[in-house]
Amino acid sequence: MIIVLKPHTTEENITRVENLVKTRGLDTHIVRGTEMTIIGCIGDTTLIDPRLFEVDSSVDKVMHVQEPYKLANRAFHPENSVIDVSGVKFGDGHMGLIAGPCSVESFEQVLEVAKAVKDAGANMLRGGAFKPRTSPYSFQGLGLEGLDILCAVKEETGLPIVTELMSPQYLDVFNEKVDLIQIGARNMQNFDLLKQLGQVKRPILLKRGLNATYEEWIMSAEYIMASGNENVILCERGIRTFETFTRNTLDLQSIPVLRKKTHLPVVVDPSHAGGKWWLVEPMAKAAVAAGADGLMIEVHNNPECALCDGAQSLKPEKYEALLRQVKEIAQVVGKVF
Ligand code: PEP
Ligand code: MN
Repeated sequence: MIIVLKPHTTEENITRVENLVKTRGLDTHIVRGTEMTIIGCIGDTTLIDPRLFEVDSSVDKVMHVQEPYKLANRAFHPENSVIDVSGVKFGDGHMGLIAGPCSVESFEQVLEVAKAVKDAGANMLRGGAFKPRTSPYSFQGLGLEGLDILCAVKEETGLPIVTELMSPQYLDVFNEKVDLIQIGARNMQNFDLLKQLGQVKRPILLKRGLNATYEEWIMSAEYIMASGNENVILCERGIRTFETFTRNTLDLQSIPVLRKKTHLPVVVDPSHAGGKWWLVEPMAKAAVAAGADGLMIEVHNNPECALCDGAQSLKPEKYEALLRQVKEIAQVVGKVF
């Protein structure tokens, strides 16, 4: 952190600010220019709110030179993290291929889709049992019954499962049964929920909030990590922009940006980004080319009749064709399966 003092600050005032910094447990390094004086703060400044120093009448501005996150920060953990989800690896060249319906509708539906995506090459099954819907009149998911269906299909196919947790009420049952616990876009900043995730042994798939900056998103990962669970995978799923033709705008830049800022794997969900099935293939390919550590794609055996997100769901044949191309691109960018 750097404190820039107002021009021509007196020695007395410089000393006062310096002492203020020292009372916070930090050391100082003073740089005196002809007009300006700058105080460099040395030590752990992550827990200090820079605005506190701005209250002093001699202080012009305060700048953080270090990010406010530590555990997720690549600076303190230069190697790529590899997150192992029941044998499926994400990160450092490993790609997870997650596919399945938006919502669990019935055992037969999930089983049919799961078999098809497994044959196509997927290594993990998705399906929402608890659904965060905009309208209270829309299908809300089958709840615990849906979770049991996912477990039964896992039993049958061997595919590990990922599903969304919306309430701490189900923490224990998710910890017991779900291989990868998804925190949805709408709950990315549900800090109470995030803090509880430190108590689970399962890895977490943290989706980007609808209007979250990179830093806000990483800070949410930091919440989970600081509470004791360092197995976090980030998932880009598009952000709100002024464009209304697509559901959201897929921010492909997030992949290289997050690669620079954090060591955590980044998965891309092109289905919720575009909201249209025909956008999934080009965006999935672009995501892999840009270095994504995995893909999460909605696939439905009968999208026309889906209870949720049919318009953005691929039919199994389309998913298979997509994966064939994705694997070629993945090889070019040095991924292994
Ligand atoms: C989902 O993956 O089912 C979902 C609801 O996604 P998001 O939280 O990204 O909207
Ligand atoms: Mn969906």
